[in-house]
Amino acid sequence: MDETEEVSPEELQSGLKKIRRRRWFFWILIMAYLPAMLLALRSAQPNQAVGIVFLVWIILLIISVTLLALVRCPQCGNCFHMNGFLFRPVRRCFHCKLHVTADKQKSKQ
Ligand SMILES: [Zn+2]
Repeated sequence: MDETEEVSPEELQSGLKKIRRRRWFFWILIMAYLPAMLLALRSAQPNQAVGIVFLVWIILLIISVTLLALVRCPQCGNCFHMNGFLFRPVRRCFHCKLHVTADKQKSKQ
């Protein structure tokens, strides 16, 4: 996609919504680790439960990071959180600096 090409507000909004959904999934997963582990430790068979919880969590984390890394910026079409092999879940596009809430900021004006 040409970087100077204008995208419609609808395309921008749906693309940014997708990015925000995946970011939420990622952060909720990170925050769920400790409570899930504490619950596993309280179960009848803590060793087995901790192993299962850790395995499920790490699989979900790999899926979440992959989805987050592959999500495309609706404005420039490049990977929103990736620059080469560098992954950073920041709030701006690595390439065109589009903010993750740019559609909300525009509708306020
Ligand atoms: Zn971009």
